[in-house]
Amino acid sequence: MNVVCPGDKLSCIEEYESNDNNTFDDNNGIIRSTTIGTKCINKKDHTLKVKSISNISLPKMDDVVIGVVVSVVSSMIIVSIEYVNNNKVNSKIECVCSTRGTHKKTMALVDDVIALKILGYKNGTIHASINDPDAGVLFTRCKKCSGDVITIKDGIKCINCTWMDDRKISRNFGNTGFIKLS
Ligand SMILES: [Zn+2]
Repeated sequence: MNVVCPGDKLSCIEEYESNDNNTFDDNNGIIRSTTIGTKCINKKDHTLKVKSISNISLPKMDDVVIGVVVSVVSSMIIVSIEYVNNNKVNSKIECVCSTRGTHKKTMALVDDVIALKILGYKNGTIHASINDPDAGVLFTRCKKCSGDVITIKDGIKCINCTWMDDRKISRNFGNTGFIKLS
């Protein structure tokens, strides 16, 4: 999900029309957002709007977020945020974390519960970092047998089938008792 901020470019008026739902035409042919929200496009009538999420707290720089890994692509992981500074959030905001420049083959896998530190917004995307002692995987399971795992140097080991796997482990690994995933 892409988050847009006030002033962010949404589209050109040739492509879509502003229908005033938190958007405006900036008189230079660009439709921009008036609020923090998510961009919704109606391809049928070529209009777009911004669904405001300003009533919820968006993570700011240096906030620690906890969420679930929803996608792992070549050099980044995408996380659906569930907690911001240990406060539950109900909106489905996603952030992106670059895994470029790390020696590990696997930083996290889909469905891992992970903590990340927010870096900021760029092009409507929330960027976060895993390069912090608090950041990293908080909870995971063995990908072979779904068994419980323990941490070992640079990763995890399944206590059921002894499968070992790479992970960037948070120093808070295992402290997930308070987490209720939606
Ligand atoms: Zn296993």
